[in-house]
Amino acid sequence: MNLIYQEGKDFAKSYIEPYTELTDKESRFPEESFKELGEKGFLKLLIPEEYGGLGKGIEEHAQACLAFAETCATTALCYMMHNVAVMCLVAHGSDELKKRIFTDIIDNGTFMALAYSEFGTGTHFYITEMTAEVNGDRTTFNGKKSMVTSASYASYYLVLAPSAEEGKIDNWVFPLESKGLSFELAEWNGLGMRGNSSSPVRIDHVTLDSSHRIGAPGSGSEQVFTVVAPFFITGLGAIYSGIALHMFAIAADHAANRRYPDGSTLSHIETIQIHIGEIYKQASAAKALTMEAARAGASGEADALAKILSARIFASEAAIECGRLAMRVGGGKAYNKALPLERLLRDAYAGQIMAPSADVLSVWLGKALTGQMIP
Ligand SMILES: Cc1cc2nc3c(=O)[nH]c(=O)nc-3n(C[C@H](O)[C@H](O)[C@H](O)COP(=O)(O)OP(=O)(O)OC[C@H]3O[C@@H](n4cnc5c(N)ncnc54)[C@H](O)[C@@H]3O)c2cc1C
Repeated sequence: MNLIYQEGKDFAKSYIEPYTELTDKESRFPEESFKELGEKGFLKLLIPEEYGGLGKGIEEHAQACLAFAETCATTALCYMMHNVAVMCLVAHGSDELKKRIFTDIIDNGTFMALAYSEFGTGTHFYITEMTAEVNGDRTTFNGKKSMVTSASYASYYLVLAPSAEEGKIDNWVFPLESKGLSFELAEWNGLGMRGNSSSPVRIDHVTLDSSHRIGAPGSGSEQVFTVVAPFFITGLGAIYSGIALHMFAIAADHAANRRYPDGSTLSHIETIQIHIGEIYKQASAAKALTMEAARAGASGEADALAKILSARIFASEAAIECGRLAMRVGGGKAYNKALPLERLLRDAYAGQIMAPSADVLSVWLGKALTGQMIP
């Protein structure tokens, strides 16, 4: 595995692990880890070198997300969203917008988030019921986004809204301090990913000039399907692979160290060995498929989309299955939370429902493989 993965693992040991338990227990955004993510250069991973970043791509994105998720899924998920938003700007933003935001990220450790999903359209986040009223160079927005990870902590939010171009959508950057933007933080009470702050965002007469729009009017959908989707879906594949690998590490360690009065350990029991083998197999396959998908994406191979979709579906389901088996290996100690497996299982459950959900992606995969239009 390459450098970014190893650097991510080292970073996680020093700057994520100390906060992981509190992040879950207190439903607390991992602010300390994010401060360090800025200082150690991870927030600029995808920013092009000419803007002062590291100029990396989808493979390094996947490696960093994987490495962080092997320690803390919440931190990895918030980080992943930032990378996706950055990448969208890299691919479609104006030079002025890139300079403004990338300089802030690099100099001040600020980060980005995705405010896409709405209460009405749910998992079909590229369909928006917001309103956008154009008045010369200024557009006034009204509406509400339902679950915005890093809400109130991120400094910039990508928002999809109807375009002046009939039937199309635009992708905008809303700065945190925009007048009319407010956060319903008390609404986040996730089963897992508890430090995410994935709260509703209210957009009440927010007015922005056109410099905040990413790309040409009406190009939002193209941005979603050519940049946001591959980076987001691959990133999710990496995160759920990381959770599955973390489950393997905990279950294997527990099996080796849980001793019975006769001196034998759980590892001596054949059924446990089979469970450990199954967890390893699923977690390794999820990781291998995700890294292969990222590689295919980076090289622009013809079946990259099918691989990316497969990796994300497989990893989400593998994480839940690994969690089910790991809880069995962990027994009463896992159930009574002496091991962090129940947290990982709760985190894993987000995988199947995050948009586009595993079910929706299964439909897309079939379409991709049979040459049909997506979505
Ligand atoms: C931890 C977490 C973090 C999140 N962070 C963000 C974020 O940062 N930004 C953001 O914009 N959103 C975010 N979301 C929201 C998420 O991406 C989804 O949009 C949201 O979970 C959809 O919820 P819903 O109940 O409205 O889904 P619904 O649309 O009501 O779907 C309910 C179920 O029906 C299934 N379903 C619906 N339509 C179809 C179909 N056509 N075919 C097959 N199955 C279908 C779905 O798979 C799902 O399981 C986050 C969600 C979670 C859990």
